[in-house]
Order: sequence, then C-alpha cells, then structure tokens
Amino acid sequence: MNMHGQRVLVVGGGIGGLTAALALRQRGAEVTVLEQAEALREVGAGLQISPNGLRVIEALGLAGTLRAGSVQGRAVSLRDYRRGAEVLRLDLNRLPPDQAYLFVHRADLIALLADAVRDAGVEVRLSQRVVRVGQEGRVVLDTDESLTADLVIGADGLHSAARIALNGGDSPFFTGQVAWRAIVPNVTGHPPEARVHMGPGRHLVSYPLRDGGAVNLVAVEEREGWVAEGWAHRDHPDNLRAAFAGFGGDVPALLAQVHDPGLWGLFRHPVARVWQGGRLALLGDAAHPTLPFLAQGANMALEDAWALAACLDADGIEAGLPRYQALRRDRVARVIAVANGNAWKYHLRNPLVRGAAHLGLGVLGRVAPGRMLGQFDWLYGYDVTRAVR
Ligand code: FAD
Repeated sequence: MNMHGQRVLVVGGGIGGLTAALALRQRGAEVTVLEQAEALREVGAGLQISPNGLRVIEALGLAGTLRAGSVQGRAVSLRDYRRGAEVLRLDLNRLPPDQAYLFVHRADLIALLADAVRDAGVEVRLSQRVVRVGQEGRVVLDTDESLTADLVIGADGLHSAARIALNGGDSPFFTGQVAWRAIVPNVTGHPPEARVHMGPGRHLVSYPLRDGGAVNLVAVEEREGWVAEGWAHRDHPDNLRAAFAGFGGDVPALLAQVHDPGLWGLFRHPVARVWQGGRLALLGDAAHPTLPFLAQGANMALEDAWALAACLDADGIEAGLPRYQALRRDRVARVIAVANGNAWKYHLRNPLVRGAAHLGLGVLGRVAPGRMLGQFDWLYGYDVTRAVR
C-alpha cells in the first residue's frame, strides 16, 4: 500500500504509460498523464499480444473486452516467398488452456486503456509536450510550465526526454532495414494465423484483425540508406509492391489493396543502462526500443508497467525503483537480443542455404511440433503479475 496518495506524473500516453497509470491508480496513487498529442489515439496498425502481455491486461481487469474485439491466433506459419508453401507451423492451439495469443488493433488497445484510466480517476492532460525531465521529480513543458510530483515515469517512447535525464543521449544506428505497415481488407480469406512470408533480403508478415475482415501487413526490406527514424513517414504503395514483386501465394492480392502505407526506418538502440534514479523511472520504448522481429515491444511495455507499479507498491519509491530495474533489465535484454537475431533468419539470400534451412525447419516442425513452441516457454510462460509479492 506504499503508493496510496502518492502523486505520480506519467510522461506519455502510449501503451506503456496508460498501463502504468492504471496499475498505479488501482493501488491508490494520484496519477496525471501528460501526452503531447491532441488526443489519445493511434495510427492504424496491428499488434500481436502474446500470453505474457495478456496476463497484464487480465490482471487490470480488461482481458474480456480485449479478447471480444480481437482475433485469437491459432498458429504462426513460416512460408517460402515464391508460392507461399508452408515451411514451418507453430501450432498455438498447443498453448496451455489459460494462455492466448491475440491479434489486436493498436487503436482498440489504446482506446480500452484510455477509457479505463479515465474511469479510474486518472487525470489525462493532452497537448502537453514535455521538454525536460529531472531526477528530482520535476518536468518542464514547452510552455515553460513546471510540474512536480513524488514520482515521474518516463513512458515517452523512442525519442525519450526522460531517458536523456538518466543516461545522456544514446547513438542509435540504422539496421539496414525498413518496414512498411498497412491494414487492408481480407480479400484472401486469411485464416486466424500470423504468416511470415520469407524471401531473400525481405519478409512480409500478415495476420487478421478485429472480426477477421481486415489484415495487418508488416513488410520488411533490407536497404542501404535511410535518413530519419520516426513513425510518421508515408510511402507510395507502388514502392512496396515493387519490393515484393517476386512474392507469390496470397501476397500479390493483399498488396494490391494497399493505398497509403506507413514506412519506418528500423534503428537499433542499446538498452538503457540506467532505468531509474531519484524520483524518476523509465519504461517501454523509452528504456529499450526493440526491432519488431519478435513482436514484443508492446508486450515488454505492458510487463514493465505492471512490474514498476508492483515494486513501488510493495517497497515504496526509494527501494521499489532499484528492485524494478533489477527485475526487468535482463529479461528485456534477452528479448531484444532474440529479436535482433531473427531478421537474418527470415532473409536468407543464397538459395542453397535457404533451401537447407527451410528443409531443416520443416523436418523439425513435423517431428517435434511441441518442441518448436516449447522454445518460447521462457517468453510466453512468464507471469510478471506473480513476479512481485
Ligand atoms: P509509445 O507507444 O511510443 O508511446 C509513447 C507516447 O509518448 C506517445 O503517445 C507519444 O506521443 C508520447 N510522447 C513522446 N514524447 C513526448 C513528450 N516529449 N511529451 C509528451 N508526450 C510524449 N510490439 C508488440 O508487442 N507486438 C507487435 O506485434 C509489434 N509490432 C510492431 C511492428 C512495427 C513495424 C514496429 C515499428 C513496432 C512494433 N511493436 C510491436 C512495438 C510497439 O509498437 C512498441 O514497442 C510500443 O508501442 C511501445 O510502447 P510505449 O508506451 O513505450 O511507447
């Protein structure tokens, strides 16, 4: 009960910030969220919420609504790019009955969290751009207004001002990969599974959303040059179609539906060395932006938010903050290392190597399907809601 009546400022109203706000409010804290945007809303895109992230949504009391508006994933299917033949199938029906893997529209998750924080009595202040954060529990807005609290949480994403306060600037580097994202109508009868279409130097992930009537696409291509890292770039759909022109199966029909795709340069950042200090803590992308190749960025933000609230409530601010960092850093670093390693596996260029690798995967998937899924137990089986007592 250490957080009862404590004043908390959360910088950033994304998935991590809203989750932390709700978890702390449920423990009696007086919480204000400062969000730079004019509204709490998200660009159209999908998210895979795996069992480890879903446990947090469940513990917050929101899983029923999320499940009702999402698609439950039944499999992850790795496919060869030429005709879409399946190379390996991870059967998600083999997950224990209490676990589920959901395909979620980001806007739906944000709306669910935003309604829940407001209903719980969190103050959400929009159009509030934070320009400076101090370890003493103070933030400064671009209007020069200064606010103080018992605790500040930096949940301000990729270009975090809070991260700088604790770590100085970092030096991200371009990974040589860009990602297009789009949502299209489900014109191919896409089943409730995530498909990874693997080609030389590129891959495309597709999965259905909401009632199955839409399909989320993430298409990754290796590239030499890129300028800025950010979420707001658009591209002409013909560039996407040209990059994936050699792909067969369902891919051409889905790409024909794309109108205005987003385009991201994928950068690698080191995991922040320091996640907390004084009266300041970091979570989510502010502490550890990840490449999307394990679909865990939002799931890690959910886990962080729960762990932070639970540690603070159990031990108070002074002792709870270092406990939070100790609980989270190694797990997050492992997730990020696995995500970093995945891209080249999907992108094998040499046809002989690719053929052999796909053959090996196919054999393994047939003789030991349980083992294929079992290698993710450390990730999906983890329950952050039981990690702090
Ligand atoms: P964000 O969601 O970035 O939220 C930060 C918030 O802070 C924003 O609302 C922003 O406006 C606000 N803000 C920023 N600066 C300021 C400021 N100075 N003042 C006030 N407010 C500020 N993750 C998954 O788990 N599953 C997936 O399937 C998945 N797919 C992905 C696919 C792609 C192509 C990419 C690029 C990412 C994907 N992710 C996925 C990762 C996931 O989107 C992020 O990790 C997650 O959104 C991080 O949440 P966050 O709350 O930390 O940050």
